Amino acid sequence: MNLSYWEYKSWFSNVDFTIVGSGIVGLNCALVLREKYPKAKILVLEKGILPQGASTKNAGFACFGSLSEILADLESHSEEETVQLVQKRFDGIALLRKNLGDTAIDFQNHGGHELFLEKDERLYSRCLSELSRVNGLLAPVFGTGSFEIRENKFRFKGIKESYITHIHEGQIDTGKMMTQLLRLVQQKNIGILNATEVKSFEDLGQEVSVHLETMEFKTGRLFIATNGFSEKLLGKTVVPARAQVLITQPIKKLHISGTFHFDEGYYYFRNIDDRILFGGGRNLDFKGEETMDFGQTKRIQDQLETLLREVIVPHAVVEVDQRWSGIMGVGKQKKPILKRLSDRVYCGIRLGGMGIAIGSSVGKELADLA
Ligand SMILES: Cc1cc2nc3c(=O)[nH]c(=O)nc-3n(C[C@H](O)[C@H](O)[C@H](O)COP(=O)(O)OP(=O)(O)OC[C@H]3O[C@@H](n4cnc5c(N)ncnc54)[C@H](O)[C@@H]3O)c2cc1C
Repeated sequence: MNLSYWEYKSWFSNVDFTIVGSGIVGLNCALVLREKYPKAKILVLEKGILPQGASTKNAGFACFGSLSEILADLESHSEEETVQLVQKRFDGIALLRKNLGDTAIDFQNHGGHELFLEKDERLYSRCLSELSRVNGLLAPVFGTGSFEIRENKFRFKGIKESYITHIHEGQIDTGKMMTQLLRLVQQKNIGILNATEVKSFEDLGQEVSVHLETMEFKTGRLFIATNGFSEKLLGKTVVPARAQVLITQPIKKLHISGTFHFDEGYYYFRNIDDRILFGGGRNLDFKGEETMDFGQTKRIQDQLETLLREVIVPHAVVEVDQRWSGIMGVGKQKKPILKRLSDRVYCGIRLGGMGIAIGSSVGKELADLA
């Protein structure tokens, strides 16, 4: 690209910090860098015309992990490690709420409910019998008992008679969270260039060379927050995992409020604006959904529609309004990868399905690596 003197001087000269990716991690990293270095020139590069990863596509659950998920974690982690994972989510949500404010993100606490399908008898009994032990284990995080048994007051069909509810869980408006983050970044004089994909980079020792489609420039330090898309820049560090979602048309007298999940968290739904947002089904085709390409498949969408009509809103007529997908970054381990890759290059990736809970803290820790 043939830049003018002005273009080069204003946008690409003397850049102190460059962040790749304008999701929740990249934007939080930029804000923390601004706090630490008030005079620095900071640039965020984003390949989409909007942030185009998971941060603008997700379901907006502010969650800490369902009881069945915590029991599964206890099989592969020690009790101490499991409590630490939950503590990180709790601290991360507190940080998100403090940074952006509950009104700005429309935080609402209606509880997070785990439902059990009729066929899940064993898991249901196990969760019931372990409930008080896990509440005791998590007491250092939440104080009093966090999981409670609640009757099926929303009249879902084909499920066990009770839910297990995490009383502290809540929900946010994902779009509001991201617009508020972008607003703060702009207020703090941080540059954002959209439709700008970083193709590669090279740490030259004193600075880092950043290669875009048609040009390159130098930056003091480079922070990579590309989550599910990281393979393109960093090789096989993170496995991409597509998640498909649908949202209904408004439903008259919708009586459901809260966040819900079932089938060990593979399906999740919530109310928003008199509608139901419903996602999941990745377990129907793990391999097929291991992709960085957006899109929907008939198999998963059909299953979502069936469960929507048979389990979630069996008593109402529902029409699907929109469908979309987002790309997560997952791996065998739940912990994100936060590390220095070379003298001047750092990454904060592999957020899994908990990016709202941990994204603000991971962004901060990424900035603190420098
Ligand atoms: C459908 C769905 C539902 C979810 N529901 C929840 C939920 O309810 N609660 C929860 O806590 N989490 C949820 N998640 C997970 C959560 O959204 C993610 O963990 C979180 O958004 C990850 O944030 P991030 O900033 O790491 O990555 P992303 O938001 O993916 O941001 C990475 C950014 O990098 C950009 N990028 C990638 N490569 C390049 C490049 N080479 N050059 C320039 N830019 C690049 C991408 O376009 C993207 O904008 C969900 C995810 C999905 C997909």
